[in-house]
Amino acid sequence: MRAKLSERNAAIVARYLEGKTLEQVGQEYGITRERVRQILIQQGVSEVQKAAVRYLRRFRDWTCRGCGKHEKRDPRNYKRLHCSKLCARKSQGPTHSEDDLIADLRRLAAELGRTPGQRDINASGKYWHMSYVYRFGSIRNAQERAGLTPRQVGGAGHAKKCP
Ligand SMILES: [Zn+2]
Repeated sequence: MRAKLSERNAAIVARYLEGKTLEQVGQEYGITRERVRQILIQQGVSEVQKAAVRYLRRFRDWTCRGCGKHEKRDPRNYKRLHCSKLCARKSQGPTHSEDDLIADLRRLAAELGRTPGQRDINASGKYWHMSYVYRFGSIRNAQERAGLTPRQVGGAGHAKKCP
């Protein structure tokens, strides 16, 4: 009985340390927030831990404007638009010459043995796919310019539009 009780208390402490509020933990375990607070004291949760939890709670879901990556960010980094300097640079637009872009597309094509699509470009290319879109209007145009056969509509890049 005693072991069971302390396990439950440990779980309550753990939920709190994950960033849940007293209210949320209380609801989950069917007890008042005051009871949760008492349990935390009983279990020896320190002021330092409480401060750390308050800090963690300020983390928010964040999305990179460049690549669309999701992550949790603390308030200091929340206002940044890009996940990295590289990503910001890639998002800048047409900073690369047509020749450089086409050369890398051809290199990729030779490496893969087929026309590289958006996914290939981002996975193994020197530039990211938006550089091609900015420079040529679309990846398809870039593929044609490189003398490659554009891939069939319905490939990875069109999956969303054609269910
Ligand atoms: Zn990014």
